[in-house]
Order: sequence, then structure tokens, then C-alpha cells
Amino acid sequence: MVTTISLSTGSETAEAAPLPILSHWIDGRPVEVLPEHTGPVYNPATGQVIARIPRGGAPEVDAAVAAAKAAFPQWRDTPLISRSEVFFAFRELVWRHREEMAALITRDHGKTFPDALGEVVRGLETIEFACGLPTQLAGLMTPSVATNVDAFTLRGPLGVTAAITPFNFPAMVPMWIYPIALMCGNTLVLKPSSHTPGATQLQAELWKEAGGPDGTFNIVYGGREAVAAIVEHPDIAAIQFVGSTAVGRYVFEEGTKHGKRIGSFTSAKNAMIVLPDADMALTADAAVASGYGSAGERCMAQTLVIAVGDSGDRLRPLMLERIKGLKVGPGMEPGMDMGPIYAKEHRESVIAWIDKGVAEGAELVVDGRPFVHPTSPDGFFLGVSLFDHVTPEMQIYQEEIFGPVLGIVRAGTYHAAVGLINAHKYANGTAIFTTNGGAARRFKLEVDVPMIGVNVPIPVPAGYLSFGGAKQSSIGDLAMRGEDGVRFFTQQKMVTERWPDPGRSGPLSLVFPGNS
Ligand code: NAD
Repeated sequence: MVTTISLSTGSETAEAAPLPILSHWIDGRPVEVLPEHTGPVYNPATGQVIARIPRGGAPEVDAAVAAAKAAFPQWRDTPLISRSEVFFAFRELVWRHREEMAALITRDHGKTFPDALGEVVRGLETIEFACGLPTQLAGLMTPSVATNVDAFTLRGPLGVTAAITPFNFPAMVPMWIYPIALMCGNTLVLKPSSHTPGATQLQAELWKEAGGPDGTFNIVYGGREAVAAIVEHPDIAAIQFVGSTAVGRYVFEEGTKHGKRIGSFTSAKNAMIVLPDADMALTADAAVASGYGSAGERCMAQTLVIAVGDSGDRLRPLMLERIKGLKVGPGMEPGMDMGPIYAKEHRESVIAWIDKGVAEGAELVVDGRPFVHPTSPDGFFLGVSLFDHVTPEMQIYQEEIFGPVLGIVRAGTYHAAVGLINAHKYANGTAIFTTNGGAARRFKLEVDVPMIGVNVPIPVPAGYLSFGGAKQSSIGDLAMRGEDGVRFFTQQKMVTERWPDPGRSGPLSLVFPGNS
């Protein structure tokens, strides 16, 4: 295996050894870059620079697309079962390297090692789905729609496709996209986040080791310039983007202007409703785990708890008990519940949101701002924060904070609570906590949010199902993964076919063909 980044975790420091320089991955191999064309990668647990990452632009995107375009015809024509065999081998390799991959995620992102391992395993589900994709690619066939004429559908690949992915799931989110694109017969250029490159680089290396042909899976690192080059590239047919709404809207609007199929999966502000009949201990566990897990840097985190009736008064002390016991520290240290924030600037932005919440009049019950880790004071750590009496007029209610900040909102009735969720501009995931099956049933029908949990706080659908939000949490018609992922990454062809008996072609007729 070609390894371009060394695995080192925990309390690493930038010592005498020169920093490793990551490279783009084009046509099955790393592409060397000059140090002056790179930027820093940090270990957020120490605040130290641990590697340099290339800042790619149009030339690198052009090279990756050229490789993907050259690899496409042969990959498209590779029998489905042979493609599937590559995926079975890839699945085994990712499974075997799951701990290494998780350690790289923890090192670059900061989330705890068990959480990172969970991410890899949830990503694997989509690789497993891809192994069995031949059944999903079957078409429909109708014999004898006219004399000697049969009709059928088939699904073919689009060509060169691309994925642009965020920092917060460097393994799982790319794995929700490229296995389906590739298994459908496309080739792909991945533009991952520059903050968390280790796990993505390892995926490209494992794909090669599994027998994935050169040029089928390429990686270009970079920011705006690389994204603009992808969005405008005439040889890219489709892009799936995952990240913030502002960038996702730009990718959607510019990409569609350039004739591409685009799916953008964007920001979120998820709310869970708590009814007075809920099991409050279970609900407190769920709220704290969902709100603060991965330092709140999950698009499915429930960051608003809408407490109906007296449930807020009963839930709050239970949440406080649990918050008191949380351990914040380096993600590789056993027993930690939460690691650092992924970047220094983002930590500052989360602190600014807490300041704003105080200024807006919400009650700050727990203040995570003063937290400094005792042995790693330069790490980007932040304690957890809890607001109560958050109201819909407040910006901390309306906007995504993407940090360990939970807000309790009080609602008089179930209807008022559902009304709040349905009026919100974001609609990614939601949940209801109740012991009343009838209320849960109504909620599933009445709530305008596509991913719903019933006594489940992070309702990420199983890997063979689609994943996607609505309103400003998703721009485009189809969700990603699952059945929608297959539809997104294929073109359906409708074939009408005649095999007349030899010598029995009829008389010439200019009449519009009928069905006789
Ligand atoms: P981001 O929008 O900053 O970055 C996403 C991608 O776009 C990255 O590859 C990044 O390099 C690139 N990018 C960033 N700024 C750009 C710009 N100005 N022009 C062009 N490209 C740019 O998002 P992030 O901070 O990496 O990730 C967090 C966001 O992702 C949150 O809003 C979160 O809700 C969202 N997210 C959504 C889902 C979902 O499925 N809906 C899943 C995970 C994360």
C-alpha cells in the first residue's frame, strides 16, 4: 500500500521530523506537491500542526477529471459481478483497517475514538449495500407491447461524477456517496474537507488495494478554487455536495447552470419534542448524547429540546446530572465523552453564539466557555453549554451553531411544538419522546421533516435506505444513498426493440407507430 500520511495519534507534537505533506490522489497514485502550495492540518486535541495539505485548483481538477474520463469506458463495461467483487474486497479491507481509519479521524477531527469507529461502521453499511447493488440495477421488461416489439428499461452510469464533502464525517459521508457512484459504473473525483484528510486518503489507498482500477476514484484537496473548477467542469456529469447551506446553494445553482445533476445536503437545526408522558431518564440520556456527542458537530444532532407542558421542569435536572458527569478531553484517551472542537476559528464562532444567546435573553444554565483542558491547554477544547427558555425569535433558535450547545424551548401543547418544528427553515432530522403510540403516530404524519425518530434521538436511517432533509437542509430532488442514490447516479434508458421474423418486414408506412 502507498502510504502518504503516517498514523500517529493522541498527544502528538510537531517535533524535529519534517511535517508529512499529503498529496492529491490522481489516477491511482499520489501526486507530489510543493510545500508552498500547501496549508496546515491541525490536531485539534493539541492545537499543533501535524501535516501539510495541498491547495488544489483548476489544474489538479482537470488532471483528476481527465483520469476519471479515461478510466470510465472500461469501468462502465466491467461486468457488474466483477465490479461487485472489487467492492467485496474493499469492504474487507475497510473492515480490517477500521481502527486505523478511526484513529486518523480522531486525530484530525477530535471526536472520540469509539465515536470515530461508529462512523466507519455506519459508512461500511453503504459499501455493503454497493456489494449487492446488481439487484438494484435491474430494469423492467414488457414483452409484446406491439407485434414483435418489446419494451424495457435499463439504468446506465452518467460518466465522471464528483463528491464535495465536509469535515465532520471524513469517512462516513464520502462512503455514503462514492460506493454507489462507482458501483453504478461511474468514475469519481472526491473533494474532501482539508481539515480532516487522513481517513479520506486511506480510503483511496484501500480502493486501489482492493483492485479498484486507476482513475476510477480520485481525490483533489483544496477550497473555493477546486470547488469552482468542479462545478464548472464540462466533463463532470453530476455532483453530490454535503456541507453548509450557503456553499451547497452555490454548488447547486452554479452546477445546474453548467448542465449538471446536483444534490446538495446542507445545514440543520434539529429539534426533539418531549411529551409529559415520556420516560424522562431515557429522554435525558438521549438529549445529552445527541446534543453533545461529537461536540455537537453532527448534522443530525438534536440541538433544540422542545419540552411540552411540565416536561421541561422535570427533564432539566436530569440533564444537568448527566452533564456534570461528562468528560471532555483528547479523543484517543479512554473514557472521554467529548473531544475538542475541530478548528480554532470554529471554537471562537461557537463561543460567539453562546455570547449571543446570553445577549438575546436565554438562560445560560451551563456555560462551557471557560473550560480549559488541564494537560492540553492549546487544544481547541470547549465545555458543553445548556440554555433554557430559548424562544423562536432568538437567533440561537434559528441558526445552526454546530457546537456543544443545547437549548430547551418551552411549548404549551403538542400542537404548538409540532408547529414550531414545521415553521423552522431547516428540516433534516427530528424526534419525539413519548410513551403514547397514538401521539407518535400523529407526529410521523404531521411533521414536515423527512428523517424521524421515535424515542431515538439521532434517526440516521439504516445504510440501505436513503438519507436527506428538506427545506434549507437539502437542495435538489433526490436524497443520497439507497434507492435515491442509485437513481441519482444513473441515467434510465427506455428501449423499444423489434426483432421481426426474417423477410417479414411490413410495407413502408409514415403513420405514427401504434401498438398493433
Ligand atoms: P462547508 O460548507 O464549510 O464545507 C463543505 C465543503 O465545501 C468542503 O469540502 C469545503 O472545502 C468546501 N467549501 C467550504 N467553503 C467553500 C466556499 N466558500 N466555496 C466553495 N467550497 C467551499 O461545511 P463544513 O463546515 O465542512 O461542514 C459542516 C456543515 O455541513 C454543517 O452545516 C452541517 O450541517 C453540514 N452537514 C450536512 C449533512 C447533511 O447530510 N445534510 C451532513 C454532514 C454535514
